[in-house]
Amino acid sequence: MESLRFDLPQSEIPTHWYNVAADMPNPPLPALGADGKPATIEQMSAIFPMSILEQEMSMERWIPIPQEVREIYRLWRPAPLVRAVRLEEMLGTPARIYYKKESVSPAGSHKPNTAVAQAYYNKQAGIKRIVTETGAGQWGCSMALAGQMFGLDVRVYMVKVSYNQKPYRRSMMQTWGAEVFASPSVMTQTGRDALANDPDNLGSLGLAISEAVEEAASRADTNYALGSVLNHVALHQTIIGLEAKKQFELAGDWPDVVFAPCGGGSSFAGMAFPFVADNAAGGRNGKPVRLVAVEPTSCPSLTKGQYAYDFGDSSGFTPLMKMYTLGHDFMPPGIHAGGLRYHGACPILSQLYHEGLIEALAVPQVATFEAGVLFSRAEGVIPAPESCHAIRGAIDEALRCKETGEAKTILVNLTGHGHFDMASYDRYFAGELVDFEYPDEAIQKSLQHLPKFG
Ligand SMILES: *Cc1c(COP(=O)(O)O)cnc(C)c1O
Repeated sequence: MESLRFDLPQSEIPTHWYNVAADMPNPPLPALGADGKPATIEQMSAIFPMSILEQEMSMERWIPIPQEVREIYRLWRPAPLVRAVRLEEMLGTPARIYYKKESVSPAGSHKPNTAVAQAYYNKQAGIKRIVTETGAGQWGCSMALAGQMFGLDVRVYMVKVSYNQKPYRRSMMQTWGAEVFASPSVMTQTGRDALANDPDNLGSLGLAISEAVEEAASRADTNYALGSVLNHVALHQTIIGLEAKKQFELAGDWPDVVFAPCGGGSSFAGMAFPFVADNAAGGRNGKPVRLVAVEPTSCPSLTKGQYAYDFGDSSGFTPLMKMYTLGHDFMPPGIHAGGLRYHGACPILSQLYHEGLIEALAVPQVATFEAGVLFSRAEGVIPAPESCHAIRGAIDEALRCKETGEAKTILVNLTGHGHFDMASYDRYFAGELVDFEYPDEAIQKSLQHLPKFG
């Protein structure tokens, strides 16, 4: 019987993360402080441990994964690489489709890959508490899990609309010992101000980030942790692509094109960056692997944003990062892929996109759920709405192969399962989901508020 799963032994869990900064044609542009000068490690050390800030700016190609972190990775890694033969048959495509199953982590997504690392480095630095925010709930769960593993207290500001809509994500965080507050909350000045302005404020990711950062900055025993966007988060996620490359060797195959969803860009970066170095050297098969970031048409940071210095949060607390952005006060509509509703994208990923080394594609919401349902019926796994974006990209590519007769090898980053997103699937089945293309004028308007630096 032909193998569908390409499982590595646990001894093959990578020993190092891969830092693409070492192989970029141009070095990464620095983050800037409020004065327009490069942000220093000292400025950021109020909320992050030194070891993480060093990784954020590192130019070393390989960064060792601490043994304590690899021991926790063993609980679910290496994540399986699966050949989607039933999906191929259903589509009638000559293409070979594979998916990397990051949904097998305890929290159900790729996010614990970095949460565990961040908890470890904070523990090492003598930190007792982590505060963070969560939108859809995936990151809060991952941080709660990781904090528990290292004996850190975790507090999560959860965007109020999700807090009300996704009670079981909150229960999961509490099961792993975290405290969860609906944001805006009365715990911070930012939250109290927002509530004074509008007692019915349902919150936003930017506001929740501001609450978490405010609290972290005000307490010496407390740090902040971010689940995407920053370069060190992308670095930790490279375990995905590094494992996938070993698994493709096992399969005797190699991807021609890779699709990953893109919110802040960490899962895309984690899958794609390990292929960027090969591409620079001409590609493993004498041709580069195409690397495609898939985003929603309702929050099109890469495909319609501007490459500019902008804040990471809506209040302007964070340093300025050069990235593709829709403007820090851009308010994405309430689409069901909550993890993709971010105005910007990881700076290194943005730079590689700007230099033409990776591609981006925007897909509308209804088509992503259609792809997710097809995938569930073929492969069994019910994908997270975020992951459905990558699946849409892959299915469209496979259908193009059907027309041209090309037997391409396609790789999908299945970033998570959708077990806590079934209300969104219900709305899709009820025909209640709509497509939303963010109007160009609205994007131009929020881009006018870009900070004038850099
Ligand atoms: C958070 C999330 C994403 C998007 O975040 P990135 O940092 O862009 O990877 C994608 N898929 C799932 C399942 C998520 O939870």
